[in-house]
Amino acid sequence: MTASVLTRTPDPAALRRLAGLDDVEFGVRLLAGTPTHEGRDPALLRQWARAAAEFGAALEPVACAADVVESDGGLEMGLLARYTSRPDAIELFTDTIAAADGLAERLGWRDWYPAGSVRAAAVAHEAAHARLHHGPAKAELRRALGHVVLRLGSRRWYGHVAGADEIAAHAYARTVCGLGRSPLLLTAALAESLTPPPARPSPARTPKPATPQPRSPRRRTPHGREK
Ligand SMILES: [Zn+2]
Repeated sequence: MTASVLTRTPDPAALRRLAGLDDVEFGVRLLAGTPTHEGRDPALLRQWARAAAEFGAALEPVACAADVVESDGGLEMGLLARYTSRPDAIELFTDTIAAADGLAERLGWRDWYPAGSVRAAAVAHEAAHARLHHGPAKAELRRALGHVVLRLGSRRWYGHVAGADEIAAHAYARTVCGLGRSPLLLTAALAESLTPPPARPSPARTPKPATPQPRSPRRRTPHGREK
């Protein structure tokens, strides 16, 4: 863990406001902060967020086939975990996972996020990304979202909804790990408690992103990276 990063004391009122949001709202915010959705109808974003969450929650649980490797330094990069397709691997950042787990304890959120569940949820989340990357689930998610970009007669072509796979992965993780709330709430709370690292003249690393993440006007969220 980088001591200079996890220094901010979360504002209790801000955390209460976060906890008071429903999980679909976190999905809406994620989509609203994702490039290509600027100016979209909020009602459409809510419809997509709900559909993506329902899709992820209904995904059949399967064992994770990707290699799981652990690293340090996630807090500094603003990452909790990420999936890479080449090689097929899930990288877990143990410092960020420990920070999120400790925050759940400090906030009295153990009913929602039992001890050890952050790591399990991170693996499940990235495993969902792997399925949405390789398999038929990718097209199934597009159909579930119903974003029709072309119609010819009775045929329809469905477009990509940026950020929807992220919502689906969180919903899958929540369901298979039996969490009381979406991991999006905990990652938002963690973002509230993190002080961004000092600005650097150029990015130290540019890891391949798993998926876009909800954007905060003030700081990055600790899971994944924006494209
Ligand atoms: Zn993700």
